[in-house]
Amino acid sequence: IVKYRDVTKSFGDVHVLKGINLDIHSGEKIAVIGPSGSGKTTIIRMLMTLEEPTSGDIFVADKNLWKMEKKGELVRANEKHLREVRGDIGMVFQHFNLFPHMTILDNCMAAPIHVKNENKEEVRERSIQMLERVGLGDKLNNYPSQLSGGQKQRVAMARALVMRPKIMLFDEVTSALDPELVGEVLEVIRDIARNEDMAMVLVTHEMDFALNVADRVLFLDQGVIAEQGTASEVLEHSKNERLQSFLRRFR
Ligand code: ATP
Repeated sequence: IVKYRDVTKSFGDVHVLKGINLDIHSGEKIAVIGPSGSGKTTIIRMLMTLEEPTSGDIFVADKNLWKMEKKGELVRANEKHLREVRGDIGMVFQHFNLFPHMTILDNCMAAPIHVKNENKEEVRERSIQMLERVGLGDKLNNYPSQLSGGQKQRVAMARALVMRPKIMLFDEVTSALDPELVGEVLEVIRDIARNEDMAMVLVTHEMDFALNVADRVLFLDQGVIAEQGTASEVLEHSKNERLQSFLRRFR
């Protein structure tokens, strides 16, 4: 469902990604690990159309994300094109990004109604279902400021799910949480991974979790995918020395 072809990304003189080739299949659950600054977040921000690649192409369901055809020529995508492709993709951020002045139910309902023009009653029902599913059925009318970090992150997940994306992106969603709240959020992700057939890409520092949930683990290092395979191959049996030294920090 997603293809990266020779994708590079530089910020000024900093060459963050040096040629990423990656196929993500429908329903596949992928964990991305790697040292700080290796470009993990950048990889998924490009897919969410929040960063533009310096070169190369990204395809979502065979549509070129960043380029469109105009008069027979391939040109830079405009906002309308980006919006269309983005409809298939949901993202959960490290810092929740909820709308503070809306109740959590309204937070979930906003995008399907205003971006996708869906029927309000249907969206309300689906939003309540999703909030119940993440364990917040009794907080529908609360505001984000009245919730714990773990609860806010669960709202962010419900909000992404309500859009029924084909791909969900999770960017270090537990790293801003107090340690005692991490478990409840990982449990919700595990539940989504088990029961939803959407593809998921998780940038994470939780190695046990990656081992548990991911069909495939990518080790990003120095701007390239330095190692990939099943969780067990990458996390337990790899001979890559930089990967081994990276993993030792988590033991
Ligand atoms: P971490 O685990 O610390 O979050 P990461 O692997 O997710 O790291 P990225 O956030 O993708 O890494 O960043 C990769 C590099 O790109 C870093 O050196 C970062 O400073 C740089 N970078 C990211 N975004 C920008 C930006 N908007 N402008 C300039 N430099 C950036």
